Amino acid sequence: MMARSHALSGAAGWLAVAPPLAQATGHPLSPGTLAASTVVAAGAALLPDLDHEHGTLAHGLGPVTRVLTEVVADVSGGHRHATHSLVFGAGMGALAAVALTSRWLLMLAMAGFLAATALRALELPRVGWPKSYAVAALATAAAARWLPGPWPWLPLAVTAGCWLHLAGDLLTPRGCPLLWPLPWRLEVPLIDIDTSSWRETRLIAPGLAVAVVLLSWTHFA
Ligand SMILES: [Zn+2]
Repeated sequence: MMARSHALSGAAGWLAVAPPLAQATGHPLSPGTLAASTVVAAGAALLPDLDHEHGTLAHGLGPVTRVLTEVVADVSGGHRHATHSLVFGAGMGALAAVALTSRWLLMLAMAGFLAATALRALELPRVGWPKSYAVAALATAAAARWLPGPWPWLPLAVTAGCWLHLAGDLLTPRGCPLLWPLPWRLEVPLIDIDTSSWRETRLIAPGLAVAVVLLSWTHFA
C-alpha cells in the first residue's frame, strides 16, 4: 500500500477506536489530545516501512530517514520482515514509553518526527522534507504548550499506528510475518493491488480520507 493510504488508515483507525475505548476506561480524550494522538498514530502507521530503502519514507524525510531505512533494512532482514510484526509495534510503543518517562525532549522529538512523517506521507505539492520538519516542529511546540506532558497516550498511539499498518499490508499479497520471530507469513489478500494502482489512488486512499473527515466531524464538531 502507498504511504498515504497507511497514514490515512492510521488516522481513521485511531479515530474509530480510541475515543470509545478511552470513554469505556474512564479516561476520555480531550479534543486537543485526540487531535495530537491522531497525528502521531498516522505517522506511526508508516514506521513498519522503515525497512523499505526505496519507499516514500526513505526518500521523504531527508538524510535522517535515508540512513535509518538502510540500517533498519539490513538489521530486520529486508522489506516486510521483522518490522511487519506485532512485536515491532509493541517495541515501538515501549520505546515511546521510555521517551515519555526519561526525557521530555525525547518525547517531543519522537512526536515531532511522527508528525513530520504523517505530513510527508500525504505528499502535498511543494511540501518537501524541510517544510515537513518545520511544520511538525511548530505543531509539536504548540501541542507541548497546550497539552502539558507527559503524554500517556503516546505509546498507545504509536503501537496502534504500527499495528494498523500491518492490518493494511495483511490484506495485500505477500502479507506479513505477524508473529515474527515465528517464521509464518500471514496474508488475507482481499485487495489484490499493486502500490499506486488506480484502485488504491482513486478508491482506497480517497475512501480512507472520507473516513477521517467523517470521524473527525463526529468527534470535533
Ligand atoms: Zn508495509
